[in-house]
Amino acid sequence: MAKMTKEEVRQTKDWMKTEEYKELNFKRKSIVINPERACQPLGAVLCSAGFEGTMPFVHGSHGCVAYYRNNLSRHFREPIAAVSTSLTEDGAVFGGQANGFEGFKNCLNLYKPKMFAISTTCMTEVIGDDLGAIVNNARAKGFLPEDVPAPYANTPSFVGSHIDGYDNMLAAIIDTLGVKGESVSDVINIIPGFDTTTGNINEIKRLLTIMKVPYLVIADYSNTLDSPLNGEYKLYNEGATTLEDTKNCVNNKATIALQKFSTKKTIALLADKFKQEAKAVKSPVGIKFTDEFLMAVSEITGKEIPKEIEDERGRAVDSMTDAQQYIHGKKFAIFGDPDILTGLTSYLLEMGGIPKYVLCSNGNEEFKNDVEALLKEYGCDEGEVYIDKDLWHLHSLVMTGPVDMLIGPSHGKFVAREAGVPHIRLGYPIFDRVNIHRYPFYAYSGVINLTTWIVNKFIEIVDDTSDDAHFELLR
Ligand code: SF4
Repeated sequence: MAKMTKEEVRQTKDWMKTEEYKELNFKRKSIVINPERACQPLGAVLCSAGFEGTMPFVHGSHGCVAYYRNNLSRHFREPIAAVSTSLTEDGAVFGGQANGFEGFKNCLNLYKPKMFAISTTCMTEVIGDDLGAIVNNARAKGFLPEDVPAPYANTPSFVGSHIDGYDNMLAAIIDTLGVKGESVSDVINIIPGFDTTTGNINEIKRLLTIMKVPYLVIADYSNTLDSPLNGEYKLYNEGATTLEDTKNCVNNKATIALQKFSTKKTIALLADKFKQEAKAVKSPVGIKFTDEFLMAVSEITGKEIPKEIEDERGRAVDSMTDAQQYIHGKKFAIFGDPDILTGLTSYLLEMGGIPKYVLCSNGNEEFKNDVEALLKEYGCDEGEVYIDKDLWHLHSLVMTGPVDMLIGPSHGKFVAREAGVPHIRLGYPIFDRVNIHRYPFYAYSGVINLTTWIVNKFIEIVDDTSDDAHFELLR
């Protein structure tokens, strides 16, 4: 094939910014380019990191596990523990049971976990390994002691995404450990969902403490994946949900999940099997959804919203009012996971912004309906919602119908660069900025953070691009 000249490369790049190319791009069926999603077992590994002394045990190829560890490590900038059964060609042909046995034995000897949280990769799903049989046989043959729980979840990567893997693993852990008792406690369970912003989890805990609500965060990795640097490495960091608390969580008063798309199976399990009051609220991003979350807590527990939190709300509204003129009428392209996008859409609409493109690679029709209902509620007829589309689709969208800002994970930086617009990092993964995951975008503090990040970025651009005559002190 003849090499393209520089001029031909330039012409082709220009053509890829046209309506004609966009039409062809949106007809694409057989290839996905830069989707904003990861595979199921990555979510299972994240979920497992939220439990005391738990080793994520992935049945499949070690290359896959290297990817989850590497990916999560880059986001949290923390070491991530996970082991694999390291299946190779032999396992693919004869089944992976022998590797499973050896894996349990080695891992127990070396890492002494209190629990294995077992998930699968594409390979073991394709060959059809039976996890239940492997666990039972391992127990019968003495490779897996009875007192080490081993919940397992099938996490096939060719369906769903990391949010389903999180949900499948969490449901398996609660199903395996949960023991229904006679009495019901006053504690409410909080399930964060696939949320890699540890600041969000800490913020919710802070609010519940102010409300004097007894709570249990299930799958709490806010400490394990944000541990203090004190010169001592711990394979299993402190602060995760204990196995004892997980056993009893089904006897707590109620469960509130902070994401609905990454907790569907778990919520159904708690409601149907354990007969618990269990529901998901919209992720508390922006004023309205935070109000709804706090009211849900108040209704379940009978606790009033204290003045301290009312004052926080007032300060958040004040921060929005101070900054509203910088966001009003601005167009945004936002992308990432469905729960975060629903919350972010609500926040932007509260600020008078236009969520021009809401693109969710792992969203479904229910998500689309939720976001479209929000756009309608605020009278925004310019917003467009895309599900099952990737960041190359987003490229075509912003090249043919410009926006003022992108908000989403790091993978969007290439589109932002091409379009010449700013990009606020939010969601998972964030590889190219530090500490973002430590700052909440949930609740009233989150409103102030979001407003600060977005508005100051716009103001910085005005400063950076002003000539001397227009370089003003006041902005
Ligand atoms: S998509 Fe499949 S092959 Fe790729 S990392 Fe995930 S489990 Fe492994």
